Amino acid sequence: MGDAVTRFKMIRDGDRVAVALSGGKDSVTMLEALLLLKERAPIDFTVCAFTVEQGKFLRPIQPLGEYLKARGVDWTYHTDNPSLRLIDEQPDHGCDLCSRYRRRAVYQIVRGLAANVIAFGHTADDFCESFLRNALFTGRISALPPITYSRQRDFRLIRPLVYVTEDLTTRFAESLGAPLIPCGCSQRTGTVRRTLRDMFGELEKEHPHLKETLLSAMGNIQTGRLLDPRFLDLDGGTETAEAETANPFAIVD
Ligand code: SF4
Repeated sequence: MGDAVTRFKMIRDGDRVAVALSGGKDSVTMLEALLLLKERAPIDFTVCAFTVEQGKFLRPIQPLGEYLKARGVDWTYHTDNPSLRLIDEQPDHGCDLCSRYRRRAVYQIVRGLAANVIAFGHTADDFCESFLRNALFTGRISALPPITYSRQRDFRLIRPLVYVTEDLTTRFAESLGAPLIPCGCSQRTGTVRRTLRDMFGELEKEHPHLKETLLSAMGNIQTGRLLDPRFLDLDGGTETAEAETANPFAIVD
C-alpha cells in the first residue's frame, strides 16, 4: 500500500483522510494499514473513518463500532434514509443507482468531517476485474482511477489498495480478529463479477502472478499498438516509426 500511496501521490502533508469503511475485510485492512502508515510516514496527516448504512448489511454494525472505539478511531456511522427508501420503492435497483446514492451521502458526511481525502477500499482484484469487464463487456480499455478528484475538486479520491490482493486482505483481517460485517450484495451469484472471479481462480492455478502481471500492464500502456487513432501516427509524422508486419494479426514484441 505504501508503494501505491507514494507512486500516485495519494496522501500529502496536512491531509485529513476519511476512510470509507464498508465493514468488510478490504476496508478494515486499509484502515489499519493507513493508521500504520501515519505512524511511519515522513509527513503529517490524520485518519478518520465513516460508514454509510444503505440497508444492505447482514449483521448489526455495533461490534465494529466497539472495535473502532477500542482502536481509538474517530468513526462516523451514517444511516442514509434516501437509500433505505430506494430499497423499499425499487428493491431490484442496480449498482448504478445504489452507488449514486452512496456517493451523494459520502460527500455530505466527509464535508462534515472536514476531510479533504476519501480513501476507498478497492483492491488489486477489483482493478483487474474492472479492467477485464470494461474490455470484454463494454468495449473500453480502462479500470479504476487510483487517484482522482470529485467534480468540484473539493475532495481527492484515492484507492490505496490498488496493489493489494484479496487473499492478503482476507488473511490480514482474520489476523486482526475484527468483527467484519458482510454486505448482502457480496453473496450474489451469477453476476459478471462472479464469472470473472471464477475465471481468475481457474487461471491462477497455473499462473499465480496473473493479477500482478495485469496490474503491471495497466501501468505500461503502449498506445501505438492499440486501435485508437488518437494515439496512432496516422501520417507518419513522428520519428519512431513502428515495425511493419505483413500479417496484421501477427504479434510483434
Ligand atoms: S453491490 Fe450492492 S451495495 Fe454495492 S453498489 Fe451494487 S447494489 Fe450497492
